Amino acid sequence: GCTAQDVIAALRAGAATVTEHRDELIELDRVIGDADHGENMARGFRAVAAKMDTSAPETPGAVLKLCATVLISTVGGASGPLYGTAFLRAAAAVSDAPELDGTAVAKAVQAGLEGVVARGRAEVGDKTMVDALTPAVEAAKNAAESGEGPAKVLAAAAEAAHQGAQATEPLVARKGRASYLGERSAGHIDPGARSTALLLSAFAEAAG
Ligand code: ADP
Ligand code: MG
Ligand code: MG
Repeated sequence: GCTAQDVIAALRAGAATVTEHRDELIELDRVIGDADHGENMARGFRAVAAKMDTSAPETPGAVLKLCATVLISTVGGASGPLYGTAFLRAAAAVSDAPELDGTAVAKAVQAGLEGVVARGRAEVGDKTMVDALTPAVEAAKNAAESGEGPAKVLAAAAEAAHQGAQATEPLVARKGRASYLGERSAGHIDPGARSTALLLSAFAEAAG
């Protein structure tokens, strides 16, 4: 199963991936938003990684909760509270379990999606991170039901999230800054959907 140390390693991998893809996320957000998503994510996850250097939460849930707190306090813009709420709900879903199996990981991803929806009220097709997370939840559940462990559950979630992010390209945005562009938002991938897919890939690789 996935221990607190494994969750910390996954978050560090997430920090590395959003840093590596910082410029790409900035460019996606430049065309349909305000060009800060890459910096928001890099700053937020750099702070998460730094926090893990100085504090040692003892359960996966405590790690996820600390991550949420740091993201909410360091990321301005829509994505901070949205990702923060996702990690907060994921933390609540795993409670104080010392280790997470595939089913617990799938439940955490589902709770994360529920948090984003509760906070942002976006539906599938609105061209947001919900378009990546929704298929990810479905894939994670299916993998967990087939008896897969955390790494394969996350890998299935990541693959579905990448497809979901790609599928935002032709859509017209109905939530967030990109919605101000109306029809002109079509033809570009949503930055938040892309960052969700990148994070899930990093978590999967770290777990595997
Ligand atoms: P901001 O738009 O405030 O500059 P970011 O650029 O960091 O914040 O994040 C933008 C991303 O946030 C979008 O690409 C989209 O995926 C996501 N987003 C914005 N509003 C919502 C919402 N209501 N529900 C879900 N996701 C949203
Ligand atoms: Mg932005
Ligand atoms: Mg902004």
